[in-house]
Amino acid sequence: MSIEKNLTEIINSIPENVTLVAVTKKRTVEEVQHVVDFGITDLGENRVQELLDKYYKIEGKVRWHLIGHLQRNKVKYIIDKVHLIHSVDSLRLVEEIEAQSKKINKTTDILIQVNISKEDSKFGIDEEEIFRFIDTASACKNVSIKGLMTMAPYTENVEETREIFKKLYVLYDKIKENTHLYNNVSMEYLSMGMTNDYSIAVQEGSNMVRIGTGIFK
Ligand SMILES: *Cc1c(COP(=O)(O)O)cnc(C)c1O
Repeated sequence: MSIEKNLTEIINSIPENVTLVAVTKKRTVEEVQHVVDFGITDLGENRVQELLDKYYKIEGKVRWHLIGHLQRNKVKYIIDKVHLIHSVDSLRLVEEIEAQSKKINKTTDILIQVNISKEDSKFGIDEEEIFRFIDTASACKNVSIKGLMTMAPYTENVEETREIFKKLYVLYDKIKENTHLYNNVSMEYLSMGMTNDYSIAVQEGSNMVRIGTGIFK
């Protein structure tokens, strides 16, 4: 089975401290079940509806990650089901996550998506805005800011990609030095790296990679 072979190769190529989030979007329940049966516990979906569909069908212990743009009106459907939301990109979204978390007495772990590359097509907040963002978001008691996430734009140029990851690492480190100023900020996860660029991301300090195509090819 190639899923098992691909997973073995990926796991062998990343250090032990790096969490592999298997991105299961557009994959069948059967394919996803293979991944879980292999022993992968962290699964990522970029759409709420797909996460919900699979949530009830996949058997085994799974930690669901929401990695795609999240609309505020959909937060309520996933709030009790997600382990980590990687794609928090506005204060209004943080406020909605806070409100829904409060209702069910949960503290929800989130990552802030940062738009390092400044591509118009990418979601995420600007690097320059990050401290102001954290200052405001840290007032939300039922939200815990656990780290940062970014997506590098697709390019053949490895050094361009590396620059993006380097910049996010610097930012992550800078915030880490200031976490004592806040009650609910801890820089534990740096989510960067997908199928085409995860090796570079890991070299630049990523400890959470989101891989889809590379598993199911
Ligand atoms: C699809 C997706 C991935 C995985 O991409 P691959 O190139 O298939 O590995 C990672 N992160 C996000 C946010 C995605 O939407």
